[in-house]
Amino acid sequence: SALYRVDGWGAPYFSVNASGDISVRPHGTDTLPHQEIDLLKVVKKASDPKILGGLGLQMPLVVRFPDVLKNRLETLQSAFDMAVSSQGYEAHYQGVYPVKCNQDRFVVEDIVKFGSPYRFGLEAGSKPELLLAMNCLSKGSADALLVCNGFKDTEYISLALVARKLLLNTVIVLEQEEELDLVIDISRKMAVRPVIGLRAKLRTKHSGHFGSTSGEKGKFGLTTAQILRVVKKLDESGMLDCLQLLHFHIGSQIPTTELLADGVGEATQIYSELVRLGAGMKFIDIGGGLGIDYDGSKSSNSDVSVGYGIEEYASAVVQAVLYVCDRKGVKHPVICSESGRAIVSHHSILIFEAVSASTTHVSTQPSSGGLQSLVETLNEDARADYRNLSAAAVRGEYDTCLLYSDQLKQRCVEQFKDGSLDIEQLAAVDSICDWVLKAIGVADPVRTYHVNLSVFTSIPDFWGFSQLFPIVPIHRLDEKPTMRGILSDLTCDSDGKVDKFIGGESNLPLHEIGSNAGGDGGRYYLGMFLGGAYEEALGGLHNLFGGPSVVRVLQSDSPHSFAVTRSVPGPSCADVLRAMQFEPELMFETLKHRAEEFLEQGEGEGLAFASLTSSLAQSFHNMPYLVSSSSCFTAE
Ligand code: PLP
Repeated sequence: SALYRVDGWGAPYFSVNASGDISVRPHGTDTLPHQEIDLLKVVKKASDPKILGGLGLQMPLVVRFPDVLKNRLETLQSAFDMAVSSQGYEAHYQGVYPVKCNQDRFVVEDIVKFGSPYRFGLEAGSKPELLLAMNCLSKGSADALLVCNGFKDTEYISLALVARKLLLNTVIVLEQEEELDLVIDISRKMAVRPVIGLRAKLRTKHSGHFGSTSGEKGKFGLTTAQILRVVKKLDESGMLDCLQLLHFHIGSQIPTTELLADGVGEATQIYSELVRLGAGMKFIDIGGGLGIDYDGSKSSNSDVSVGYGIEEYASAVVQAVLYVCDRKGVKHPVICSESGRAIVSHHSILIFEAVSASTTHVSTQPSSGGLQSLVETLNEDARADYRNLSAAAVRGEYDTCLLYSDQLKQRCVEQFKDGSLDIEQLAAVDSICDWVLKAIGVADPVRTYHVNLSVFTSIPDFWGFSQLFPIVPIHRLDEKPTMRGILSDLTCDSDGKVDKFIGGESNLPLHEIGSNAGGDGGRYYLGMFLGGAYEEALGGLHNLFGGPSVVRVLQSDSPHSFAVTRSVPGPSCADVLRAMQFEPELMFETLKHRAEEFLEQGEGEGLAFASLTSSLAQSFHNMPYLVSSSSCFTAE
């Protein structure tokens, strides 16, 4: 576990158990030893049709733990409750979940359910998000906020006002000055008194990758002059009491509590000024930004880590608001945050399988006769490289060997291109070089592990901007990995690989895979952790690979056991084709018809029509990923 830093990024939810498997502690630090769940068992149950109750889902697979979601929410709430009570803050914290982080229906419904004792609400940034939030929240608490962010048109604003009519605690947050006229106009027509917020463009700037929305030149929010114009117009319209919330968002993954406190302090000054100008202020909404320690380093100068925990975050926020309000004599506002990443990252794990690994065959020494005739075919420069390579090998000079072997290979490729070396000779040169390097102890090359996954669909942020996630084999962790590898996906795209890992590594320690290595019928499962936020929401259909299958797993009462409470197969080939406007049913009929013609013409002898069409049908029905035969699982 030290090798993969599981204790760093995984605490308190993930650790390695005595069998060498990843163990999930669904209730965090409150998990009792008998409540721990062996992740490998979950994967087997989900994917193997042969074990008792096995579901036979295809890989890749997302495993969701709603208990983890619940624990994240409770941890966030209790961190703020603690900061409020210990600092004598005279209002409460009530958060909202930004649905863009993971819009999955069951994730949102779980959050609403787990959050209802705490008045936890939702944040929407577009019309469909607002529709889904209205739908989910109607079952929740009436006090929970429904924060409407994002660019708005007439329809969006009307919808938000309908939500208010339906007694949802809806706040329309102005992102642009022009939205105000629409709000005033439409709310009058609909005879609804709106609750209005405004998003301030702070001067405090977060300089990391995730901070580009912040600072004076940031994409969103109102400048100081615009805020003053909004106040004036609301006052003239007799609606200044409707302005009740101040929002800002300085970016995701805020690296330090110093930067956070700086931003919150600046925003609280604006809040206090709005109070002074007569607005009906009640809430300060500090946006997202509560960070995740993806590499377990607790470092504040990297995009993949943060130098604080949830308690320190909450304490810094409460302290910064309290300080400004008390100096200005302003009543303490209700504090709202829009933490997304911090709530949903841990609860879902992407599981995928390494199906093969590249190998280099360098076991036998070339025969001296074969060598002699090969060397004679080489041109003079290549022959000189070969002599230098041999001499350096005798002297045991690693670096010189590497140099001459590269040079020799290069020259031989040139000879191959001009036709003076044939393909067997070219292969023989490669294997001589590899044999020499191996014989003198130059380290084994890094292998390429082929994984049944699309990086574009399942880890889009790695492809887009090299966001790192912990990736770890979920079993065999009691066995020393003997290989190092990079991961290459199924897409026909050179970007479809993972070659950067937490800890600044360019490859990952991995175990040998093969016929029966490590038990489990030689299957080798890897997990990508902490990807519950954004990754599922962003993934596209590159190369027409759709999303993974999903299971929802609850810890159950008997020791070390679990229940799969929902299982959804990933999109089939037909589904992804439909998304591209094809009509799979018609496609199937056309292909079937062609098969009929083909067989009628007496071609394809021995092929039965039924088996041809059934394999065609199966191809439409299956997921686009590699289909594994699960037969080598042993029942437990
Ligand atoms: N609120 C707003 C307005 C955002 O733009 C974002 C995302 O960047 C969030 C909340 C969620 O941020 P995080 O995932 O860092 O909590």
